[in-house]
Amino acid sequence: MLPATTDVLVVGAGPTGLTVAVGLARLGRHVTVVDGQAEGANTTRAAVVHARTLEVLEPYGVVDALVSRGLRATGFSIRDRDRVLVPVPFGGLPTAYPYTLMISQEVTEAVLLARLTELGGRVLRPYTVTGVEQDEAGATVTFAGGESVRAAYVVGADGMHSTVREQAGIAFTGEAYAESFSLADVRLSGGVPQDEVVLYFSPAGVLVVAPLPGGSYRIVATVPEAPRVPDVAFVQRLLDDRGPEAGRAVVREVVWGSRFQVHHRVADAYRAGRILLAGDAAHVHSPAGGQGMNAGITDGVALATALDAVLGGGSPGLLDAYGAVRRPVAQQIVSLADRITRLATVDRRFRPARNLALRLLAALPAFRRQLAWRLSGLVYR
Ligand SMILES: Cc1cc2nc3c(=O)[nH]c(=O)nc-3n(C[C@H](O)[C@H](O)[C@H](O)COP(=O)(O)OP(=O)(O)OC[C@H]3O[C@@H](n4cnc5c(N)ncnc54)[C@H](O)[C@@H]3O)c2cc1C
Repeated sequence: MLPATTDVLVVGAGPTGLTVAVGLARLGRHVTVVDGQAEGANTTRAAVVHARTLEVLEPYGVVDALVSRGLRATGFSIRDRDRVLVPVPFGGLPTAYPYTLMISQEVTEAVLLARLTELGGRVLRPYTVTGVEQDEAGATVTFAGGESVRAAYVVGADGMHSTVREQAGIAFTGEAYAESFSLADVRLSGGVPQDEVVLYFSPAGVLVVAPLPGGSYRIVATVPEAPRVPDVAFVQRLLDDRGPEAGRAVVREVVWGSRFQVHHRVADAYRAGRILLAGDAAHVHSPAGGQGMNAGITDGVALATALDAVLGGGSPGLLDAYGAVRRPVAQQIVSLADRITRLATVDRRFRPARNLALRLLAALPAFRRQLAWRLSGLVYR
């Protein structure tokens, strides 16, 4: 099943690895994608695809399929209970996609995989990478089953606990947040908008309520200790304590739920010789702002372009340029998510002052525009 040699071995078939693979396959490069899991995950996880991500994916032939299967949220707002502190409309953005696309990560991955298959590529499973050794001419990747593959370049798109990153000796600097995150896809009635993503600021923690295709909602909240699987009563309490008051949102059913611990970390380097990092292997942060998968896909597009150029005889310095461009973006995203998370959870005593300051800022069109540009990713054009 595994080839003896390949131009590029992509480790990890999440959204980042699939993007790198489609990007190289469409340019005729020999790319091999492996994943340690026997099957792809079938959970929502990241649910937001921003305008800039759709823009960079345009040449990949996947945007129509994504847009037709997602729900267009035309705005984002920060609220304190019923009071809108900062409205962020995406409607005026100068892009073909003046909205944020709500779509399950499972569907995004399925669309990318279908495109890879169309281009003659596939994902080889289950193959868990255990070692990567490199020399001047290439890298040798070894697997848990004892197999090995020789590649000109190796891409570590193997997520937060990246083996490739460890094998390359690249540190993952940062730390974990004390709180854990509870996540639930629910059916509910009343109380919350159907075409807008809302971030509720509450002293108890952050609460995000986002509409999903098919009429359900994504709920994400920071809590001291999240239950392994949240139930209706738990999510209802989150909404009652932090969400809308005037029109109560009533939870009918929890369709899927999970919990996760959030770290904020950025890899010290994105390249070590013939090894490149992208996506969660290179950066992780709070989901506030829904940037994680978007950053991974955008890394993937930039990396595929750089690798194609180098395989075509271009200077390997282009691979350093990839890191030089994408690493500062990750640092900005980590700091934006961190600022939002800290602002959201200020002590009750400072809440009136925070709300006043935000409402004064939100009265400035330039502030609202800047936030829309940043959240949509257009600022990184
Ligand atoms: C429960 C949960 C909820 C989340 N919610 C949000 C959200 O609301 N918004 C948001 O933006 N982000 C969210 N995220 C993060 C988002 O899912 C990630 O940013 C995104 O999946 C990153 O994609 P990736 O391809 O870089 O890595 P991943 O999706 O982690 O994919 C890595 C792949 O590598 C494979 N792999 C790992 N190690 C090896 C190995 N040694 N050998 C071979 N294969 C290997 C894994 O099997 C996996 O398929 C959430 C994550 C989780 C877990």
